[in-house]
Amino acid sequence: VPEGVEVELYRRAAATLVGERVVAVDAPDAWFLKHTDAAEVTAALVDAVITSIDRRGKLLLLRLDTGVSVGLRFGMTGRLLVSGPAGQVNPVAELRYGAVRDDATWDRFAARTARGVTVRVSDPRRLGAVELAPDEDAIGPDFLTLTARRLTTSLDGTGVPIKAALLDQARVGGLGNMLVDEICWQARLDPAVPTGRVRASPAGVDALAAQIRATGRRALRRGGSHTGELPRDVDAPCRRDGSVLQRRTIGGRTTFSCPVCQSEQPW
Ligand SMILES: [Zn+2]
Repeated sequence: VPEGVEVELYRRAAATLVGERVVAVDAPDAWFLKHTDAAEVTAALVDAVITSIDRRGKLLLLRLDTGVSVGLRFGMTGRLLVSGPAGQVNPVAELRYGAVRDDATWDRFAARTARGVTVRVSDPRRLGAVELAPDEDAIGPDFLTLTARRLTTSLDGTGVPIKAALLDQARVGGLGNMLVDEICWQARLDPAVPTGRVRASPAGVDALAAQIRATGRRALRRGGSHTGELPRDVDAPCRRDGSVLQRRTIGGRTTFSCPVCQSEQPW
């Protein structure tokens, strides 16, 4: 699943579009367009200049000189592909979760610029979306810049497992299943611990915020959210102590953790 790490890599790949005027839009899949339609999306984009490419959590934003922002969401299997006269320039060439081949029938949305650069969303499972002026305020503080103070606020008033809280995009933007399991393992924290227990420890919140930023940045450097140290496999041992890993469902998601080195209160 594309997490904030992948979308950040998409953002960097799409930076080549800044300053470009859009000349054509292809939006063949009406179901992929949320709260809008092909005519409206085309009218918003064609003849507009892309002034910046931003990211809020897992949401990618093409900002236009008309003041309109176009939001791209990547769901479970969405990829952003940027190509130009020099060919494919997308650095996210191989994603473990994604299809490695490129099938034109998976194209849900494309825009072409005057210079001949094309940006496409390819999504076999169609769980992503294109939306005009998406609600950016619904997304919490970003995982790459999260401070302990913001995290304290985000963990307010909840008895849910810490893993479920971190997956909630309104609390922290950009984290997905793989990254949260890796963060908990790196922090030696049991992902099932009630959020209130973490929040009660200022040292714990501080350490967790630092670990969220560090794990996110390391995954970015390594090229994806699948590059962590925690194996997602009960047949692979914990890399810290060799213990057999535990597989549970927490917050509705398959969760891997080590029953030995991850505890309810590592701080
Ligand atoms: Zn362990």
